[in-house]
Amino acid sequence: MIYTITPNPAIDIIVYLEGDLTHEKNNITREKYVDLGGKPTHVSAILEQLGDTANKATGFSGELNKAELVAIFDRYQMNHEFIDIAEQRTRESIIVVNNSGGSYMITERGLKVSDNDKEKMYAYVKENIRPDDIAVVGKPAQGFSVGDFRYLIRLLKEQKAYVACDVASEYLNVAIEENIDFVKPNKHEINDLFPGDEPVHQKLNRICDKVPNAVCSLGSEGALYKVENTFYQVIPPKVEVKSDTGAGDAFVTGYIYGVANGYDVSDRVKWGVLCSASKVQHYSSCQINKDNFEFIENNLKIYEVR
Ligand code: ATP
Ligand code: MG
Ligand code: MG
Repeated sequence: MIYTITPNPAIDIIVYLEGDLTHEKNNITREKYVDLGGKPTHVSAILEQLGDTANKATGFSGELNKAELVAIFDRYQMNHEFIDIAEQRTRESIIVVNNSGGSYMITERGLKVSDNDKEKMYAYVKENIRPDDIAVVGKPAQGFSVGDFRYLIRLLKEQKAYVACDVASEYLNVAIEENIDFVKPNKHEINDLFPGDEPVHQKLNRICDKVPNAVCSLGSEGALYKVENTFYQVIPPKVEVKSDTGAGDAFVTGYIYGVANGYDVSDRVKWGVLCSASKVQHYSSCQINKDNFEFIENNLKIYEVR
């Protein structure tokens, strides 16, 4: 079973303007839609589209607008079991997209969890996560400290799960220190972790010593990964990009799908690229189309990096 754990999910409200956002003017919208925000939930939504992989989305959700969140989960036919936080709302993020391109994101800090809420999550992990399960963990909510995050990771490891985290800064540091199984910093996240002009693959190598499956994603330039003692860069073909929001989550999904199916590292990375280079061809942050896979697979390039 693949569990995605989203401590601070979000409801994204995407607003397309007729023009560009202008100060002291009535900015008329052209289109508006609601989508899933909060990274690991994207992984569950995309796993459903890949099919054949048992998975469940969990985490915390606000009791007051639970129905709105569940309506989006249902749209992606997700299997979910969230811990309700009483008298709170799951955060909403407003994304304003200019007609000429470019966007503004306005977001709430989201759920504030109590010690009792955290205990419920730890109990859920102890009761449900079994050896050989995979857990994809996202960035904590307010009230969930870096220390609590470390505790959660240790608990998942005690349950003998394969632990994957798509987090940045201090949380990425903890994930590495705790020797989890998979991290996927992007270029900016790895440069934040290791400032300086050392080549990116050497920065990645510092993580590989501690995290056996570490990949660095490079946006349209693909991803860097290590097999035995050699580094490779896989580069997706040029595709028509509608939105790269959620590209990283789609990459994580493909990689984890490969782990669940026993693929080797090169094939896991290939699946990461298939999902993410398909995702960027859609506006939704968690929509892929398997019909895109054949073109991507036949046109991706792999180079050795020295
Ligand atoms: P997120 O915004 O979801 O956190 P990220 O910054 O973590 O994303 P990126 O490095 O931007 O992740 O992209 C992840 C993957 O998505 C890349 O490895 C690549 O396969 C794919 N991808 C991103 N941008 C493009 C693009 N313009 N064309 C094709 N593929 C892309
Ligand atoms: Mg990016
Ligand atoms: Mg990312």
